[in-house]
Amino acid sequence: MNLDIENSHRNAELALGALRKTGLPSTPRNFELWYAHVEGGNAALSSAIQKALDAHGGVSQEKADRFYKEYIQHAELSHDMVQLVARFHDEVSDLYDLVEQTGENAHGHSEELRALSDQADSTQDVGALLKGVLAVARTMRAENELLENRLAEAATEVSALQRDVQAIQAEAMRDALTGVANRATFDRSLITHMQKALDTDEPLALLLGDIDHFKKFNDNWGHQTGDQVLRLVADVMNANVKGQDLLARYGGEEFAIVLPGTSLENAGMLANRIREAIQSRRLKKRRTNEDLGVITMSIGVAQLGDEDTAETLVERADKCLYAAKHAGRNCVVDEKGLPRSAADQSKGAA
Ligand code: GH3
Ligand code: MG
Ligand code: MG
Repeated sequence: MNLDIENSHRNAELALGALRKTGLPSTPRNFELWYAHVEGGNAALSSAIQKALDAHGGVSQEKADRFYKEYIQHAELSHDMVQLVARFHDEVSDLYDLVEQTGENAHGHSEELRALSDQADSTQDVGALLKGVLAVARTMRAENELLENRLAEAATEVSALQRDVQAIQAEAMRDALTGVANRATFDRSLITHMQKALDTDEPLALLLGDIDHFKKFNDNWGHQTGDQVLRLVADVMNANVKGQDLLARYGGEEFAIVLPGTSLENAGMLANRIREAIQSRRLKKRRTNEDLGVITMSIGVAQLGDEDTAETLVERADKCLYAAKHAGRNCVVDEKGLPRSAADQSKGAA
């Protein structure tokens, strides 16, 4: 058997054995992760898995998912980027060669013309001279046309490259599962929005929501169904934000919304609207139509103060979220510490 094929089978067996030891199911994603680990080509991934094994003796599904996103999907993204840069480099160097070649040709042609003009003083055969000049002119025109065509092609290719780079950059800003902004984008945007709010003296609110008892939901219905619910929750939240509001997946089953120009009061009302929209969805398993019950979310709401850093603002929203969990879940707590009930919401809407 070919050595590569033999190696691939050996790695697959090693990956499966190692995966079995962790107690994780052998899903295609988990297998891909462990295959990449035993193959040894992804040092950062292997070191992260080894660290988790050393510290906890195993790897949870949640952690495995995180590793997948961080070390496999992001690696694919940067691989795409490397290929794009290579394409760009090839394009530019082809063009450079062509321009240089055209320059050399032009130099050659000017020599030819000079020789022809030197002859002009001594020869009587003007017709032959003119023929010579015409031939040089024709060649130069053909070469220039070639250069022009190549320049036009290069411009098209560079615009396509530009679009691809933008697509990759946009991809890197989004959470792969839900399509909303990811944590890195949240961290960056929060700072930008905070700065703007402080400069313009506008209010800014931060909403932190966490799905209630989601571990139990995963245990009951499986991780993949859990993933679908995360997508649904993101969609419901997305339908309730607008304009400059920034919805992001903050972590596993936690979402954050940065609300520029929004008071604590209005942010609390929005949070309650989102909470109600989530709990009003009757969940069904896609293929079997099985009733999965309902999902609820607890939400904490904080408002930016003059002294806040991004950390202290998030910390306060998190404290409110914790208080909402403590108050029985499926509720909103804002910084004034008042759990908002559905009754508050209808008063606000009236
Ligand atoms: P609480 O009401 O206190 O928030 O309880 P909880 O079970 O939601 O909280 P806990 O922090 O104990 O568990 C969070 C769960 O969220 C565990 C993990 O399986 C799940 N989770 C995190 N990220 C993902 C993901 O990407 N997909 C799926 N399906 N589940 C995830
Ligand atoms: Mg949580
Ligand atoms: Mg939770």
